[in-house]
Amino acid sequence: RDDVDEVRVVMTAEKSGPLLIAIGSGKGGVGKSTLTANLAIALSRQGMKVGLVDADIYGPSQQVIFGTQDAKPEARDNKLVPVESRFGIPMLSMGHLVQPGRAIAWRGPMVGNALSQMIDAHWGNREVILIDLPPGTGDVQLTMLQKYKPAGAVLISTPQDLALIDAARAGQLFEAAGVPIIGLVENMAGYACPHCGEVSDPFGSGGVEAASERLELPFLGRIPLDLAIRQGSDAGDPPAAGDGDLAQPFNAIAGKLAE
Ligand code: ADP
Repeated sequence: RDDVDEVRVVMTAEKSGPLLIAIGSGKGGVGKSTLTANLAIALSRQGMKVGLVDADIYGPSQQVIFGTQDAKPEARDNKLVPVESRFGIPMLSMGHLVQPGRAIAWRGPMVGNALSQMIDAHWGNREVILIDLPPGTGDVQLTMLQKYKPAGAVLISTPQDLALIDAARAGQLFEAAGVPIIGLVENMAGYACPHCGEVSDPFGSGGVEAASERLELPFLGRIPLDLAIRQGSDAGDPPAAGDGDLAQPFNAIAGKLAE
């Protein structure tokens, strides 16, 4: 597809500011934050200078994964200075801008404002900034995509939630904003029983790849359902930071993005 080729061109071209890549999903809880965090780490391990913005206003979680819960970003020249994380990836999260534990019931303009502060921050020499988008395909997302015009978007879904990221919705949203979809990722397919090793598919498998073909979008990869992924995220030890089998799917997706 032409627009995918365009993204590749943009990604390799010389550019002054960092390239913005959005990670989106049709709904919450499908692994968008997990993918964003692990992709940032995998890209960084492959030598790219990566930054991360957690724009998930409903449940920002990157500060937990990156161990920056207690950080308070400083401002210099009226701009935020990203927080250094334990993986050497500077980041800013909605979680840094609100008081911990306080429910976030913000209106569109406030969300836009917070987001502007995070994106227009002192990103220094970062080449790429991954943006963990809020789930869904509402006005906030559309405004955000139109305003910052990321170079491309990666969409993640579990096999059974596919209808939610199908052409009718996500496709339209990103198209309306003029943001090309780089590809789709399937999460939580294939669960290996920790006792007998038998692989089952609680949420089905292959649906996202089939949808990619239908939509003529690249399929970027499949992440298995594995307890260690959840435990690692909660403990601030995401799989892409290690050298185990679970780092592989993230490394492979990062490799395709960096191509
Ligand atoms: P989202 O950002 O889409 O709301 P998260 O990335 O926060 O979703 O994931 C929701 C929960 O599921 C988190 O507890 C996360 O650790 C867990 N999770 C995500 N992907 C997997 C996976 N492949 N295997 C096991 N747990 C996962």
